[in-house]
Amino acid sequence: MNQTEFDKYKQMLEAKQAELSGGLRNRDDIVIEKTPDALDEVQLAGERELAIRNLDREANLLRHVRGALRRMADGSYGVCLHCEEDIKPKRLDAVPWAKYCIRCQEAADRQEFESPDSSERSDELLLNAA
Ligand SMILES: [Zn+2]
Repeated sequence: MNQTEFDKYKQMLEAKQAELSGGLRNRDDIVIEKTPDALDEVQLAGERELAIRNLDREANLLRHVRGALRRMADGSYGVCLHCEEDIKPKRLDAVPWAKYCIRCQEAADRQEFESPDSSERSDELLLNAA
């Protein structure tokens, strides 16, 4: 990857990180509203659930973006973490925080190998259990 490409992806990642960090500050918007109307309550509960799911997704994405910026700092960015092939620019254009080439990503999605993601998750479970 040349410097121009590197700078381009870095800019994309930093913009995404800023966008996501800003969005996550809206967590306070999820308030529990009391309403006398049962139907409204069901609707509000649904909206809250949706908002929480979105936050989860954004927090997850933010972790991926930060991971990519870390790999930029240590020089491993743009290389598949599983097979160590270069990740195609076309894939990085669409998903600049990608850590696997498309083939390995598909294998990871089918859980054909232990991805670092799932160990991250179990670390969190361990933390929560402690
Ligand atoms: Zn790969």
